[in-house]
Amino acid sequence: MWRQHDLAAAYDAVIVGAGVHGLATAYYLAANHGCSNIAVIDKGYIGGGGSGRNTAIIRANYLTPEGVRFYDRSVKLYESLAVDLNFNVMFSQRGHLTLAHNDASLRTMRWRAEVNKLEGVDSEVIGPDEIKRLVPFMDVSADTRYPILGALYHPPGGIIRHDAVVWGYARAADALGVQIHQNTELVGIETDGDKVVAALTGRGRLATPMIVNCTAGWGTLISDMAGVPLPIVTHPLQAAVTEPVKPFLGAVVVSGTLHVYVSQTDRGELVFGASTDQYTSYSMRGSLEFTEELAGHVLELMPSIAKLRVLRQWAGLCDMTPDFSPVMGVTPVEGFYLDVGWGTYGFKAGPVAGEAMAELLATGKTPEIIAAFDLARFADGRLVGEKGAAAVGH
Ligand SMILES: Cc1cc2nc3c(=O)[nH]c(=O)nc-3n(C[C@H](O)[C@H](O)[C@H](O)COP(=O)(O)OP(=O)(O)OC[C@H]3O[C@@H](n4cnc5c(N)ncnc54)[C@H](O)[C@@H]3O)c2cc1C
Repeated sequence: MWRQHDLAAAYDAVIVGAGVHGLATAYYLAANHGCSNIAVIDKGYIGGGGSGRNTAIIRANYLTPEGVRFYDRSVKLYESLAVDLNFNVMFSQRGHLTLAHNDASLRTMRWRAEVNKLEGVDSEVIGPDEIKRLVPFMDVSADTRYPILGALYHPPGGIIRHDAVVWGYARAADALGVQIHQNTELVGIETDGDKVVAALTGRGRLATPMIVNCTAGWGTLISDMAGVPLPIVTHPLQAAVTEPVKPFLGAVVVSGTLHVYVSQTDRGELVFGASTDQYTSYSMRGSLEFTEELAGHVLELMPSIAKLRVLRQWAGLCDMTPDFSPVMGVTPVEGFYLDVGWGTYGFKAGPVAGEAMAELLATGKTPEIIAAFDLARFADGRLVGEKGAAAVGH
């Protein structure tokens, strides 16, 4: 799939983090710009961070025009990714439903639908009868604790095989000459004045004029090495999967009010996600409290699955920003770039973020599609508020 290399003394760029963001950035640097003297380093293994722990939901039905345009480009890249990488990433565009259980969320769904339509993204608000047609097992009756009033329906949304995406990017980047170094931890950043000159790793010094921080949940630790503080707080996020059953759930279903979302994999397992844990931590352990709460909420939506057994649960780290949008682009330290702040929503952004970061590194110009997500927006008061489009309440 990819080769092992000895570390070279110097690279044109060192990308820190071998998740979807780091690997996509490396791939597009090589594929679109012919730059392949690049090292992607990871303190663990490929996809060992959020990229191998997420619930693999892809969608573009965001709230702000900047967000919708950005995530829509990613959906488009995902649509052709299997062909581009010659690797089956199992993208299944089965439709995405965000339920509204009260008037306030119905209003937000209408708002999102209108912004989506203006940006050419397929989204509409539908009522309980149409929801029942799409998801017959859901309780849409009026006598539940939180009756379903409607939903934002987004047909292009769906799920993907997250491991395949990461492996596909790694294999394709490797074939183009990028070096991937697992078990290689960044421990420091050497600067000359306010300019990057080297990445210091546990296995040696790599001279380089460019370092890209693609470490998501660990993003602030890396930025601190460059003296660039970030307005990011890391929270664990848990998920769980059941034993496989016959296919019965066609769409991805999200309920912000019940803090839960669910989809069925091609193997028949139900994959559940929820809100972030309320405490800050770098721990990736699951908790019983999470499973208990999750089960209670899931059964309010689909009482008929009461006898399904949970097979596994796990956690990953989420780098939460104040406005639920990412932080991408240049920093006050020349040669130190950010691609972080991916919170609970960054897997779907891997392709577009990689494409845009590669263009920035290769040309020195910030592409329009990521201009709104710059670090300076927090000081300038130009937040890109996407909390209303988060999968569940956090
Ligand atoms: C349970 C869960 C469910 C989620 N569901 C979804 C979803 O459905 N859809 C969606 O779009 N997003 C989802 N997300 C968010 C998504 O997983 C992340 O935003 C995304 O994977 C981030 O990718 P990344 O490549 O930036 O970082 P990661 O995949 O986290 O990779 C970062 C890498 O950096 C490495 N690293 C850290 N420190 C160092 C160091 N000092 N030196 C070298 N390497 C280092 C780590 O080992 C890691 O491999 C979910 C997240 C979780 C936890």
